[in-house]
Amino acid sequence: MHPVALLLLCPLAVALSALSSPAGAGRFWHVTDLHWDPDYEAAAVTGQPCPSGGSRSGPPAGPWGSYLCDAPWRLLASATRAMRSRLPRPDFILWTGDDTPHVPNEKLGEEKVLLIIENLTSLIKEAFPDTKVYAAMGNHDFHPKNQFPGKEHRIYNQTAELWRPWLDEASIPLFRAGAFYSEKLPSTSTRGRVVVLNTNLYYDQNDETAGEEDPGGQFQWLEETLSNASRADEMVYIVGHIPPGFFEKKRGKAWFRRDFNEQYLKIVQKHHRVIAAQFFGHHHTDSFRMFYSDTGSPVSVMFLAPGVTPWKTTLPGVNNGANNPGIRVFHYDPDTLQVLDMVTYYLNLTHANMMASTEEEEFPVWEEEYRLTEAFQVPSGSAGSMQTVLERISKDPHYLQQYYEFNSVRYDLSPCQGACRLDHLCAIREVDFTKYRECVNPSSTASAITSVRLLFFCLLFGLFSPQQVL
Ligand SMILES: [Zn+2]
Ligand SMILES: [Zn+2]
Repeated sequence: MHPVALLLLCPLAVALSALSSPAGAGRFWHVTDLHWDPDYEAAAVTGQPCPSGGSRSGPPAGPWGSYLCDAPWRLLASATRAMRSRLPRPDFILWTGDDTPHVPNEKLGEEKVLLIIENLTSLIKEAFPDTKVYAAMGNHDFHPKNQFPGKEHRIYNQTAELWRPWLDEASIPLFRAGAFYSEKLPSTSTRGRVVVLNTNLYYDQNDETAGEEDPGGQFQWLEETLSNASRADEMVYIVGHIPPGFFEKKRGKAWFRRDFNEQYLKIVQKHHRVIAAQFFGHHHTDSFRMFYSDTGSPVSVMFLAPGVTPWKTTLPGVNNGANNPGIRVFHYDPDTLQVLDMVTYYLNLTHANMMASTEEEEFPVWEEEYRLTEAFQVPSGSAGSMQTVLERISKDPHYLQQYYEFNSVRYDLSPCQGACRLDHLCAIREVDFTKYRECVNPSSTASAITSVRLLFFCLLFGLFSPQQVL
C-alpha cells in the first residue's frame, strides 16, 4: 500500500480501535440476582398478585416483568439472549447468585431451591455452552434462606453437582465443604486467578455461623490463597454475593457482622497487591466500594453489579427501591487483570412492557446504559480511577446525579442531594464500620473532637479536677 494511503487510513484505525476494546483486551460478563419468580406468569393470567410482590402488589404489570415482582422466565431468557447478542464469546462469566424469589421459606424448601438453581444453571449453560462460569451462591440460594453452615451440607453437594461442568475437579471437595473455591483463569490469561467466596457465612442474618471466628475456615483459606498467588506472581479477582460495608440506599445498613467485616477489610489491605478487583452483587443496585491503605491511598475497588430482577425492596427505610434489569461487561487486561472499562446494558422495563402491548415484539432490546470511562471521564477501572470517580461525584452535582441514576439503572431519576448524597458517598468511601459512622455523622464527630479538645484545655489549665470530669 502507498505510504500516503496508510497515513490516510491511520486516523480511521485509531477511531475504530476507540470504539472497541483496546488491543489484546479480554472481556467477561458479570450477572447477578436473577431471582426467578416461577409463578409470575400464572399469576398474570389469573389476575392474581405475583407471589414475590407480597401483599403490596396488584396483578403483575407486564409480560417482561414488574417493578414490584421478581423476574418472570421471559425476562431471564431475554437477559441471556441480550448477553449472547452483545458478547457471544466472553472469556468467562461471573454469576454472583440469588436465584430464588423473595417469598417466605414456607413457600420454598430444599428441593424447590435446588430446582430453581438447576433451571438458571441450564439457562446460562444453554446460552454459553462453551464458556467457563464462575458461580457464587447468594443468600437466597439456600433453605432456610441465609442459613449457610461453615461445613458440609447437602445443598452444597447438590449445587457442586449442578456446577460440575464449570468447576475444576480440585474445586469440588472444597465447594462441598463450604461453597468457596479458587481457580486459574482460562488460557486467555496466564497470571490470572479467580477466588469465589461464600460471604453468606458472614451475614448477620445467618444464625449458623453466629459466634464463630472463621466459619468454614474461609478467612484462613483466603489468606493462604492470596499468599500463594503472590508467590506465583498471579493476580486475583475476588468474587462473591454479599459485600462488606454498607448499603448506600439505607443509612447504617450493613450486612456482615462487625468482626467479619473487620477481618475481610484487613485481608484486602494486607493482600491488595495481588487483588486486581472485586465483584459482588446482593444490592441489586449499581455502585462500588473503595479500600484504602493505612495512609489513605486507594488500594482496591469492589464493583457492585445491578440485579436482573427489578424487584422493589421491602427493606424498611428504603424509598422506592426498585431498578431496571441490568447486565454488564468488563474489559480487562488478561495479563495484569486490570479492569480497563465496564459497560452496563439494561432493559427499560416500562418501555419494554409498553411496546409488548402494541407491537408483540418477540424480544425487547437491552440498550447500552453507560460506559465507565466515558461517563466519568477516567482512563480505566483501576482503584486510582475509581477514586477519581468518587471525587467527581462528591464535588460535582452533575456527576453525582449521573451516578445516582445509574445506581437504580435509570429507574429512580429523582434528584439526589443532602442525606441521599451523604449516604452514597459514605457507603462508597467507608467499608469500615467506625469510619462509616463518622462519615455519616460528621457533626457528631466534629463535636466529639471539640469536646475532647475543650476537656484537654480545661485539664491543662486546672479549670477543674479529673474527679469532677468523671
Ligand atoms: Zn438479591
Ligand atoms: Zn442477596
